[in-house]
Amino acid sequence: MDITCQNPNTISELDLMLRIVQKSPKSTTYNMKINFMCENCLNIYDVDMKSIQFDKTRELIFTPEPECPRCGATEEVVLSNYGLEQIDHLIFSNQIKTIK
Ligand SMILES: [Zn+2]
Repeated sequence: MDITCQNPNTISELDLMLRIVQKSPKSTTYNMKINFMCENCLNIYDVDMKSIQFDKTRELIFTPEPECPRCGATEEVVLSNYGLEQIDHLIFSNQIKTIK
């Protein structure tokens, strides 16, 4: 077997593995897809959330704003049934903080 460190395939594979390893601690802390539904075009889709918080009136603030990938609507976007379950789970596990 000829093992050489200068094989470009080996280097890129290692690089890829390193990236996955570096990415994983972040993804365990706050990486969540939340399921939304667009009332404008009835599209159901996942959005990668960076943060979810309650404001003073207990309204959920999503970051980034969940925009419909099909029609671009932002106003008509609501949580799907599955999305509501996901939010319930986050509330119960104390992962949604309130902005003061
Ligand atoms: Zn839409």
